[in-house]
Order: sequence, then structure tokens, then C-alpha cells
Amino acid sequence: AKAEGRSTYHFFEAELDAALRRRRAIEAGLRGAIERNELHLAFQPLLGLEADRIACAEALLRWEFEGRTIAPDEFIPVAEETGLIVPIGAWVLRQACLVARDWPKHVRVAVNLSAVQFRSANLFSQVEAILAETGFDPTRLELEITESLLLAQNDQVLRTLHRLRSLGIRISMDDFGTGYSSLSYLRSFPFDKIKIDRSFMRGLATPGDSLAIIKAIIGLGKSLGMTTTAEGVETPEQLELMRANGCDEIQGFYFSKPVSAADFALLLATADAS
Ligand code: C2E
Ligand code: CA
Ligand code: CA
Ligand code: CA
Repeated sequence: AKAEGRSTYHFFEAELDAALRRRRAIEAGLRGAIERNELHLAFQPLLGLEADRIACAEALLRWEFEGRTIAPDEFIPVAEETGLIVPIGAWVLRQACLVARDWPKHVRVAVNLSAVQFRSANLFSQVEAILAETGFDPTRLELEITESLLLAQNDQVLRTLHRLRSLGIRISMDDFGTGYSSLSYLRSFPFDKIKIDRSFMRGLATPGDSLAIIKAIIGLGKSLGMTTTAEGVETPEQLELMRANGCDEIQGFYFSKPVSAADFALLLATADAS
């Protein structure tokens, strides 16, 4: 038993070592990622259910590092801890505006913002400068934020959100329903859109109250004058259920996975032709 205990210990030690090395490699790699042109954006359409056409696309960051694509869940936390998310976030916004400039005017682009970007002093002027530089219409821009941002709620965050909104930018609450205080945040800030977290869509497959909760969120959105988007729609049944319950938009693998800018342009072209 003693020998076994020791080998288990060595096993965990080795695992920990590998994880630390990987973390350091990511951090070092991320520092030069923009300059080396290793970042690119994938775009995932949000389908408007009333007009039955693409209303928006969410820009999702991808990183080609040492021959493979690293998922944002692995490197965004590192970018946040090191502050690298500030220049990277600016790159994402600029790139998203440049790409979306060529889309039909009714198609908006959604960009994710990290709480760390809000803490860095001049997010508002950065956004304003990128809009001016790219000539992108602010009413076609949506910024997605999660509760983690509002957790550290203070007047400065609220003021920044209001100023961004006064430019015509829409603010979306991402992953709605996963945090502890989703409802109270709706009261403290007038979001334009609620994105229902995809865990509720997964919940539809098993008995439980997911549908009741989804219906309640859609109703809440309607009475507060906010658009609702169902995330993680993977089946035609889920799509029809969202349509039947008056959800405004769906996003998910059933309609389309995130695709390259070129493929998204093709998707727009075929959708317009039909
Ligand atoms: P998110 O903002 O909730 O983005 C949606 C994620 O769900 C994407 O993962 C997308 O590929 C995935 N997804 C979409 N439809 C489906 C579906 O039907 N089923 C399933 N299982 N998944 C689906 P991705 O691209 O790996 O991004 C993960 C997270 O990384 C994002 O979650 C967001 O929080 C963060 N992220 C991505 N790009 C950026 C960025 O530019 N800036 C910041 N700050 N965060 C980003
Ligand atoms: Ca998002
Ligand atoms: Ca989300
Ligand atoms: Ca998420």
C-alpha cells in the first residue's frame, strides 16, 4: 500500500508538472501570437426565427499554435491572467468589424468581451477608436458579456456599458442562467439581448424543468423588451420548440458550426438566394 501511495503521488506530481509546462508554453506562445499572425476568427450565425434569415454572427477566436488549433477555453484564461486579453481583445474587435463591413447591412456581428478588458481603464475609447478606424456602423455591433463581469459590479462598469450603448452598440448578456444572480443583473442594467445558456438546451433531452425555465426566460425577455437567443441548438426538434415558444434567434450546431470568414460569406450568399 505504501508503494502504491508513492506511485500515485508521483503520478500526480508528473501531471502537475505537465500542466505547468503547458501553461508556460501557452503564455510564451500567446505573447507573439498577433505578430506571428496565428490568430483568426471563426463566425457562427445566429438565425432570426421570424424572418427566417441570418441576423448576426458571433466572432469566436481561434489560435494556431505549434501545428494545432487551440480552443479559447484553454488560452483565454491565460490571456486574462496575463493581461494579454487587452491587445488580443482589441485585435478581435478590429478584425470582426473589418470582416463584417462586407456583409449585408442587416447582418450584425457579436464580439465577446472579457471582464479584464473592462478593468483596463479605457475600453470605451478603444472601442470608439476601432469603430472610427474601420468605419463600422456601431448599430451593427453587439458586445457579449457574462456575469463574471457584473460580479465585480461597480459604477465604472455600468457607466462604460451605458456609454457604449449610447453609440448604438447592443449589449448582450451571455450564458444567461448559469450564474447566481442573473435576475438581479437584469434589473441593474438594460441589456438588449439575453443569450440562454446552452445547458438548458441540453437539459431538454432529459426529464426536468429545462423547458419551463426556457419559456420563463423568453417571457422575461419579452416583458423587458430584450431579444432572446437560444444557444446550443443541435436538433430540429429544439429549433421548432424555440420557434413555437417565441424565441427570437437560435445559435448552434444544427444550423451551423462556427466557420471561416470565407465560408460565412458563402452561407450568407446562399441564404440570400433562397
Ligand atoms: P461562448 O461565448 O458561450 O461561445 C459559444 C461557444 O459554444 C463556442 O465555443 C461555440 O463553438 C460553442 N457552440 C456553439 N453552438 C454549439 C452547439 O450547438 N453545441 C455545443 N456543444 N457548442 C456550441 P468556442 O468557440 O470554443 O468558445 C468558447 C468560449 O471562449 C466562448 O463561449 C467565449 O466565452 C470564449 N471566447 C471565444 N472567443 C472569444 C473572444 O474573442 N474573446 C473572449 N473574451 N472570449 C472568447
Ligand atoms: Ca458569447
Ligand atoms: Ca454563450
Ligand atoms: Ca460560455
